[in-house]
Parts: sequence; C-alpha cells; structure tokens
Amino acid sequence: MNIAPKYDPKEIEKKIHKKWIDEHAFDANINPAKKPYTIVIPPPNVTGILHMGHALNNTLQDVIIRFKRLQGYEALWMPGTDHAGIATQNVVERSLAKEGLKKEDLGRDKFQEKLWDWTNKHGSTIINQLKTLGASCDWRRTRFTMDEEYSEIIKDVFIALYDKKLIYRGRRLINWCPRCKTALSDEESAHKDLDGWMYFIKYSLDCGTIEGNNYVVVATTRPETMFGDTAVAINPQDFRYTELKKLKVILPLMDRELKVIEDECIDPQFGTGVVKVTPSHDPADFAMGKKHNLEFINIMNDDATLNENVPEQFIGMDRFEAREALVTLLEEKGLIVKKEPHKLSAGHCYRCNTIVEPRISLQWFVNMKPLAEEAIRAAEEDKVKFYPERWKKVYLNWMYNIQDWCISRQIWWGHRIPVWYCENCEDVMIASKTTPQTCPKCNGSKLHQDNDVLDTWFSSWLWPFATFKDKEELKYFYPTNTLVTASEILFFWVARMIMSGLEFKKELPFNDVVIHGTVRDAEGVKMSKSLGNTIDPLEMIEKFGTDALRFSLMMLAASGSDVFLSEDKFLVGRNFCNKIWNASRFLSMQMEKHNIKITNLELKDLDTIDKWAIEELNNTAKDVAINLDNYRMNDAAKRIYEFFWHVYCDWYIEITKDKFNEQRAKVLVYLLLESLKLLHPFMPFITEEIYSIIAEMVPLKSKLIMHSDWPQGINIEFAPGEKEKMAAIMDTIVQIRNLKADLGLNTQKTKLEVLPKQYADSLWLENKDWVKRLALLEDIELVKYLKRTLYKGEWWDLNLISDLNADVFIASLDKKIANIENMMAKTNAKLSNENFVKNAPADIVDGEKVRFAEMQKQTSRLGELRNAFK
Ligand SMILES: [Zn+2]
Ligand SMILES: [Zn+2]
Repeated sequence: MNIAPKYDPKEIEKKIHKKWIDEHAFDANINPAKKPYTIVIPPPNVTGILHMGHALNNTLQDVIIRFKRLQGYEALWMPGTDHAGIATQNVVERSLAKEGLKKEDLGRDKFQEKLWDWTNKHGSTIINQLKTLGASCDWRRTRFTMDEEYSEIIKDVFIALYDKKLIYRGRRLINWCPRCKTALSDEESAHKDLDGWMYFIKYSLDCGTIEGNNYVVVATTRPETMFGDTAVAINPQDFRYTELKKLKVILPLMDRELKVIEDECIDPQFGTGVVKVTPSHDPADFAMGKKHNLEFINIMNDDATLNENVPEQFIGMDRFEAREALVTLLEEKGLIVKKEPHKLSAGHCYRCNTIVEPRISLQWFVNMKPLAEEAIRAAEEDKVKFYPERWKKVYLNWMYNIQDWCISRQIWWGHRIPVWYCENCEDVMIASKTTPQTCPKCNGSKLHQDNDVLDTWFSSWLWPFATFKDKEELKYFYPTNTLVTASEILFFWVARMIMSGLEFKKELPFNDVVIHGTVRDAEGVKMSKSLGNTIDPLEMIEKFGTDALRFSLMMLAASGSDVFLSEDKFLVGRNFCNKIWNASRFLSMQMEKHNIKITNLELKDLDTIDKWAIEELNNTAKDVAINLDNYRMNDAAKRIYEFFWHVYCDWYIEITKDKFNEQRAKVLVYLLLESLKLLHPFMPFITEEIYSIIAEMVPLKSKLIMHSDWPQGINIEFAPGEKEKMAAIMDTIVQIRNLKADLGLNTQKTKLEVLPKQYADSLWLENKDWVKRLALLEDIELVKYLKRTLYKGEWWDLNLISDLNADVFIASLDKKIANIENMMAKTNAKLSNENFVKNAPADIVDGEKVRFAEMQKQTSRLGELRNAFK
C-alpha cells in the first residue's frame, strides 16, 4: 500500500472518473434480483451553466443515489436536459441580433436550424459540468425534451387531453411578455413588489352631481389603461354613490360614456370606492366585463405600445412613456386630485424580467381542476410526502385554487401544437399526431398547423415516465422514488408531474419530494449573477477539490433551510479530505513498517478499546442511514465527520500507536473501510481512491467502493462494567489535559498520581502506556494517599507532580482568575445595559449570557484548584 504524501484532488478525480466510466459503474439495468431505486434529475436547461444551486441540488441527489446503491438497490439516476423554450430562443435571438438579424428575417425553418445548431454545440455543457461534480447518472440514458420519442409522447398526451375535452382553445386574459412576445402561464409571471403611485383622477359627470361635485374620483396605479375603460363600478352597499347610476360618467380625454355597474367584489375602502373597469387589461376587470356584458377595448400592441384606440398623441408610445405623458396632461387639465406613493405587486416575465402585461388573446389551456383531484388526495393521504413537511400545505393551497394552465407560446422553439385548421371551415380543428390530408367537414386539402408551440413545462411535466423508451424498463423503474428540487418549481413542475403521473400512468411518479433551500451569500442575500455575489462551483472545485465542495455543501444543507456560503466554508471539506488522506497514509506506513499482511478481515480477540471503537462505528452507521433516509444530509455528514475525526483519529489511532500488531492493523483497516463506505455518498472520489489502495493489501469483495455494501456492523459484547471503565479513563484523560492547561504545565515534565477508589487498579496498569502518551505524562503512579487532590472523580482522585512549587501555581491561578473576573465585569455591564438587551439581536444577548455562565464556572473551578495548593 503506497499513498502519496499529499492529497491531490485534481489528479485523483480525473483518474477515478475514468475508472467509473470504464467499469460502467453508473449503469442501471433491469435486475429481478434487486429492488429498483430511481431518481429523475430535474433536467437543467440546455442554456444552463453550473451554478451553486445546481451543485447543491445535484449533490443531494448523488448522495441519495450512491447511498441506495450501497444498500443494494438497482439505483438509477436518470439524466437529461430541457429545451427551455423561451430561454433558448432568447439566447439564439441575441446572437442573431449581433449580425443585425431578427428571427423573422430567417423564417421559422431556418431559425429552428439555428436553434438546433446552438443546442448541439452548447447543450451538453451543463451535462459535462455535472460529470465533474461526480454525479453518478446513467449517462447512456441522457434524454432531451425535444428527442423524437419524447416528442411523440407529448403529442399522445396532448391528444388524449384534447379528446377528453381537458384541453381547449379560448380567448381569455393571459399574462403577456411584451419583450418575448408570448403568453406566459400564471406561474411564469413572477410577482414582485414595486414602488409606484396611486393616482386619483376626476371622471366628469353629466347632468348631475355627487356630494356637490360634478365629477367622481377614481384611483388607479396604471392610469394609461384608462383609455380602455368601459365602465366604473361601485359596491351596491355603498350608499355614497346610490345616485351615480342615474348619471352619465364620462371618460376624460376620450369623452366616452362609461357604464355604471354594481358589483359585490368592489371594496368600498379602496381609493374612493369608485373603481374604473378596464376589461381588456386587468384580470379582475376581465371577469367583471364578462359578468356585466361590458365592451372590451384593447389599447395595446403586442410590444406594449399603445394602439389606435387611444388619443392620437399617445399612439405608438410605450406603456410607461404613455403613463408619464398622460399624468402630465391630466395635471395640466386639473384632473388629478392627488397622488400617493403606493406599493404594488406586478408580474415579471420569468425569462427576461420584463413587467408582464395582462392581455386578451386566443390561447390553448388545460382545464386543471379534474386533474388536480387525485393529486390533492395523494398529498392529503401522505402517499406523496414532502420534506420538510411544511411544503405539503403550500402544495395543497395551490392545488385547491388551481387555475387553468395556458400552454401555448408564441415562439418557435418547442413542440408545435399538434392541431390543424381548415382554411375553408372556420370551426374545424383537427388534433393529430401526423399531418392530416383532408378536412373531415369539407374534404378540402387546404389545412394549416397551429403556429404556436407548447409551454416548456408541458414537456417536463411528463419527465418521470417519458424518459423511459422501453416498456419493460418503465415497468421496472417507475414509479420513481425521490424527487429533489428547489421550491421555485414546486408548482411549475412538481405538482404538474404528480398530476400527469396519476392521469397517464395511474400511479404517483414518486413518493418523496425533497425541497431544498436557496444558496445565499454570507450576508444572507440570494446569489445572483446581476448582484455579482455568486461563487462559481467549478472555481471552488479547481481550488479545493470536488469532494471538499460536496462535503462542505452537505454539512451546511440543513433540511430545507437556505445555505449561507462564503469561500472559506469550503475549508471544512478540504481539511477533512486531508485528514482522511493522512489517517489512511499513517495506516499504510505502519503496516509497511511492521511488515503486516492481512489475508482476511475476520476480527477476533478484541480488547476493550477495539470493541469501543467498533461499537461507535456501528452506532454511527445506523445514525447516518436514518438521517439519509430522512434526507437530513447535514446531520448524516456531521455524524460521520465526528466519528472519523474524533473517534477514529483522535482516540483509536492514538491509543493503538504503541501496540501496532496484525490484530490492531485489522481493526484499523476495518474501521477505515467502513468509514469510507459511510463517507462515499458525500466524497465519492477520495473514498474510491483509498479503497483501491487498500484493495491492493487486503482481499475485498467488490472492485469498487461504490458497488460495495453499506456497513452492517459487528455484534459487540462487553463484560459488565467494561464499557463504563473505558469511558471513565477516557474522560480522565480529558480532565488531565484541562488540568495541565489550567496550571500552565503543557510543556512541563509532569507525573500523575492516582488514588483508585474502587477496583480500578488493573485498568490503570493495563492502559498505562497510552494514557501516558495521550495525556502527555512522564509517569503514572498508583498511590494509597494523595498529598493534594487536584481532581476528584467517581473512580479515582488525581494529583499532578512537577518541579514547580505551589507558589508559582497560586500566582499564575490568581492572575488567570483576575483576568476572567475582569472580562466578567465587562459582560455583566453589557447585560445590565437596558439598551443593549432591548436592541441587540436575541441570539447575541443569549450568547453573552452563555459566555458569562461559562466564565463563572471557570473561575469557580480555578478557585477550587487554587485552594488545593494552600
Ligand atoms: Zn420575457
Ligand atoms: Zn374544411
């Protein structure tokens, strides 16, 4: 066994990755002897570049899939990418713009060629980056949502829903992105708060007054939409305006007469209680317009400039430019009573961040209510479980209030809607997988296909089953087990997958939904390119190694909580890699030095310390598995970290240094191997490398650690009292170290006197050597009487003997006590300052209290010690 002095992640990761690929280590196949365990990747966009959110999401999935593989499942992690309709089209449009071209200049077919060229060239970037991260996907299966087989399934699904009348075409108010020039679903319109103004505008009255005025005041945050007003509305219970119905309300600048309608949904407390109604440009007004049979006047073009339905000077103006010009004009005319600052929530395009404009348009919709029923029941009955559980409520709330899904997009990249229209018959629509030849009504052959493509999410909602090309494989691997995702796409994707799985496969697509947090910087701000506060995972891998990145992320990823990152956080992982490397190297060197060869790992004649360490490992393996099964990655990572660093390295290796023999070597190798297996899901590269080095020395069952077995533990039995004595002696070592530190004896030659109280003599004699070494003592002597007692224990009392006399200790202890008392006074002053206690964050105040209590304990301990020297 020959281990390089220094751990070199770059070299080793490259080598190990090649080995996995050569051995087909990630492949999963139908295997009747094993139970399947399946995860489908949330397919990254083909435009994607690996960011820290991906690193977190995919490390979580890889930890689970590697853990399940070790547990003996046929573990499949299905990879793939999403064509990302609008996002990809935007990228290619931008590159065309550099050549001074628009997509219309090329035409649909040529533009699509460009899109395919771009996708073929750049679409696998993110896949290669995931490979760098160590993702153990079955890469042979990599799917793309525009693959031919996949596209066929989308058509099947569309037609099935169309035939069931769950897909329909209708003219409705939808979210419109004026920059992308396409409809968006409600979920794709991200609501953000903006600072704006509430304008109070006079609408004049003909032939009468209200409260002595010949006008009423309406309040609005979007004054430019007034050109599309066709009514004003009041609450029927609002008696201030009872007379209004008898009067004529005139729209300023346009001199159009507006209807006066009464509707229960009008809040008399909002603005003045009179509300303008713009049925073509507001969702609530659209509903009122339908209900009260109002006129619908569209005032905007598809790029959100104003059209010919507005006064001439506003035609062609952008909506926000028009707003300013209109407000100026109304002010000049004395028609603005006042304006007030107002926070408003506006939808933003999730692809380009442009403010979304409500727009009436002919689009395709899915009627979601019937699909939601079973998906609601599945969550209510916990057949699908959310981790953390709080997301169940969020999911259900959305599902109870689910709206129809607008699935048509006015773009050219995606799955074209499989519907044809007859040019002679207005009412003919033919949904078909192949191009129909004749119209079923008039027999004419002039047919054309719908121009729109389907929402990208209409392909990804089929992902858990549409990714399987083979029926038998689908039967074996579906339903999948766990889905790991960010909360942002709970509605976009997770909820819809649950509905589509139940509708088309009659089974839930997965049972566990793991929702992880958001990656933030050290100050808690969400990482984003535009803020410049991102940390590039590939750069971190370059600097610290992949395992270090993965392990550090998992240590920070408390179930469902946000991850606060700064570069120094990756040191934890890197230092741990070095620790594992050094411990393995130490073992290999010891074996070489003592010329030990191990032919089998059977463990027998274990002494107390061996048994203690093995039992600690047993418990660790159990805890790690429980935590992983409950998706508490950070708890699992911490547990194995604690075991390896503190039990294996700090204690076991240290204790056994003196008596290194074949028996010890076996236990050391056994503990190392089992630790590596527990660590493997988190740190796949270093564990695989060390495993291969051990395999040269010790016969091992499997060639790769990733195909070995999850630690099962060895049954350990202790004699009565054996474990307690061991614990006592270890605790005493800690106490001696503390004592030596308190007395400033760290480097001094020191002898220990022990006065055993019970039958503890033999324990000291047996373990004298390593206790001496671990507690840094020159000698240990068992006595019948202590000159002075520096430590009182349940099993024994202790005294330390050195060359220094009592006065030296008393002086040094006095100084120490004085220092602490000084600090205590300061802390106390802080805590008695009302302002501090009131204004400082609670955890800071609590921290000070804890510190104070600790210092109190410390002074009393040092005081007792001082008394012992009197
Ligand atoms: Zn947009
Ligand atoms: Zn026809």
